[in-house]
Amino acid sequence: MKTNRKKKMTEKNNCPHCKSTKLEYYPDVDGASWVRHIYVQTKNGWEIKVFADEDKDVSTIQTGKIFQEDMMPYMYCISCTAEFHGRDLA
Ligand SMILES: [Zn+2]
Repeated sequence: MKTNRKKKMTEKNNCPHCKSTKLEYYPDVDGASWVRHIYVQTKNGWEIKVFADEDKDVSTIQTGKIFQEDMMPYMYCISCTAEFHGRDLA
């Protein structure tokens, strides 16, 4: 049994129901997201940029960042279609 409970930065979390790692996080389910997004016009068309107030780019984040910014993280498991609270991540 592992004694180190602290997960590594890039370690994947699992669905609390089926242990799948195919998970989605919805930052704006309550309409008050800490994440903002804009489209910037480029040579390819309009390209999305995701950012937060202090962070210029949050297009890729770690699980800890979600807990830091979102008190009620809404998550969805693609494998078993469960909807669950981010704090219940396995
Ligand atoms: Zn699941």
